[in-house]
Amino acid sequence: MRVAVPTEVAEGERRVAAVPDTVGRLVAAGLSVCVQAGAGERAAFPDPAYAEKGAAIEPDPAGLLGSADALLKVRPPTSAEIERLRPGTALIGLLNPVGDPDRIRALAGRGVTAFALELLPRISRAQNIDALSSQAMVAGYRAVLMAADRLPRFFPMSMTAAGTVPPAKVLVLGAGVAGLQAIATARRLGAVVAAYDVRAAAKEEVASLGATFVELPLETQDGTGGYAREQSETFLNDQRKLIGRHVAASDVVITTAAIPGRPAPVLVTEAMVASMRPGSVVVDLAAESGGNCELSRPGEDVVSDGVVVVGARNVASSMPAHASALYARNVANLLLLMVRGGGFAPDYDDEVVAGTCVTRDGAVVHPAVRGRT
Ligand code: NAD
Repeated sequence: MRVAVPTEVAEGERRVAAVPDTVGRLVAAGLSVCVQAGAGERAAFPDPAYAEKGAAIEPDPAGLLGSADALLKVRPPTSAEIERLRPGTALIGLLNPVGDPDRIRALAGRGVTAFALELLPRISRAQNIDALSSQAMVAGYRAVLMAADRLPRFFPMSMTAAGTVPPAKVLVLGAGVAGLQAIATARRLGAVVAAYDVRAAAKEEVASLGATFVELPLETQDGTGGYAREQSETFLNDQRKLIGRHVAASDVVITTAAIPGRPAPVLVTEAMVASMRPGSVVVDLAAESGGNCELSRPGEDVVSDGVVVVGARNVASSMPAHASALYARNVANLLLLMVRGGGFAPDYDDEVVAGTCVTRDGAVVHPAVRGRT
């Protein structure tokens, strides 16, 4: 079985779906691995490091794709890439199955057996495959560094001969994987951190990291699978009214709130941004999925009333070495779950396999996606 690892072609994408360490694991499992020349370069993994672990280095992307039995990707393949795949090729990646049904249809039409990591059931057994979590962890960490880099003030308190510097106040809205990592990182930098989330479990998790949970007189909004449920406009209006004074009192607001398959809820309005001290920073990790802040634009810094609103875009890719290392492990774990005796033998009765499989035998098979294609 020939496993192919191409260079990611999406604009600005620096990650790669296999790293030398995971190549070693795949080769040890009896697979032959072929990496496109330069595929790991932008993530600080040069070709010789892959070759050392037993990968063949292929300079020609068309040949790589056309001879693959399994294709490991970070971002969804382009139409040109899909056309080069042979029917029956297995594909693992972040395929944006709900947001891009046309591409899923194209994969089905080509006869590709595609596994979308976004659809992974969040059960304990699948934690080592959970790419949304591994990449959200990277994003949460980076969000704090982006804020610290733009803030014209210190994060930690300092008592110096020239006077005392108070610690920065950081508010994290959405305390899921990214939010919790942001809390931990901001605490390590010495900020005073508060956080809010609509899920009941978040309160204890926030407190366990030494941050203050912002108590709002609102009902919790738990959905299924550890996610929040979509909130009504009335709920969000109430939330915005109640959170306003906490935003105004913060030097940094990091927003990470998301509802799977839905646009991100607006938590921070233009008026709230105007209420912050000049020099304050908002980092919106949900900017690409609609935005938690009214002013954010993905990939841009917007300055409004002296406050910088950072519209985050593909943040995990900005720390590509570790983002790739973690992602590659997630991908390898899923692939190896489906390999027996060196061949591709997925067990579709396994809920992890069935839960991620989006196209198979020429059809879109995942119920959450079928309705959209
Ligand atoms: P996510 O990226 O979908 O959302 C981020 C956070 O935004 C969530 O915590 C959500 O509750 C919150 N949110 C939504 N609307 C909000 C609002 N109006 N105001 C404030 N916050 C709002 O979620 P995620 O981070 O991927 O995961 C959420 C949780 O799922 C995790 O914290 C964890 O408990 C659970 N989880 C479980 C597993 C597992 O068991 N394998 C793996 C990963 C995550």
